[in-house]
Amino acid sequence: MGKLEGRVAVVTGGSSGIGAGTARHLRDEGARVCVTDIQAPGADDGLLFLEHDVSSAHAWLRVRDQVLTELGGVDILVNNAGIFVPGMIADIPLEAWDRTLAVNQTGILLGMRTFADALESSGHGSIINMSSYAGMQGYGTSVAYQAAKWAVRGMTRFAAHEFAPRRIRVNAVVPGFIDTPMLAAGGQKLRDTVVRRTPLGRLGDVTDIAHAIAYLASDESSFVTGTELVLDGGMLA
Ligand code: NAD
Repeated sequence: MGKLEGRVAVVTGGSSGIGAGTARHLRDEGARVCVTDIQAPGADDGLLFLEHDVSSAHAWLRVRDQVLTELGGVDILVNNAGIFVPGMIADIPLEAWDRTLAVNQTGILLGMRTFADALESSGHGSIINMSSYAGMQGYGTSVAYQAAKWAVRGMTRFAAHEFAPRRIRVNAVVPGFIDTPMLAAGGQKLRDTVVRRTPLGRLGDVTDIAHAIAYLASDESSFVTGTELVLDGGMLA
């Protein structure tokens, strides 16, 4: 029997990369899973798919209503959707700054707020927010991405306090460089540099992150809230 038998999970940005791998793994652990995304999933893996822009409060309400109607409740919310737009302080277009924060940061606020009542009703709600190694250091190539990923850690700790009385746990995952389409956009040179800088000598796989998310979603982590689980092959060490 899987560790998430009988649970319902919502995974945003679940059509690609880490989100898709996580959705499949949560399903394999017994959960019924709803994937949301602005693009349809590449493979038809039988999961409920809802088109959804996480930066829209209205869209979140529609997703919540559909999930509650079709899956009967929700126990796990994985706020995974994210975008990367390069740009330094001196030159990042304001539209790129605004869009990055809208998706990577405001999207998480909206998700936690919209699903809080339903997660409380489950009696063991678990929220997992997607930060990044970029949210742990100053060096980077996108000030907007970096700012949003730092903010995710702060919001996660804040939410852990706010939601603890409602028996909802809130944690963040902090991936290093993971082999996904987002990373592929950086090109071969970035991959080679990352592998050289990573003590374990490889890129992360989506399953490395999916397993950590399943742990944080399950009762195995019932005393864990307000923390950050770093999965980076030792890079930040
Ligand atoms: P990806 O590009 O493969 O997948 C991201 C998914 O999010 C896509 O399916 C995309 O359509 C969806 N998405 C984008 N904007 C959206 C929106 N407004 N509403 C709903 N869905 C939207 O990227 P990935 O590498 O799988 O990244 C997933 C998450 O992990 C992101 O938050 C990313 O910042 C984070 N992350 C990735 C890495 C990495 O190395 N790949 C490292 C650290 C953190």
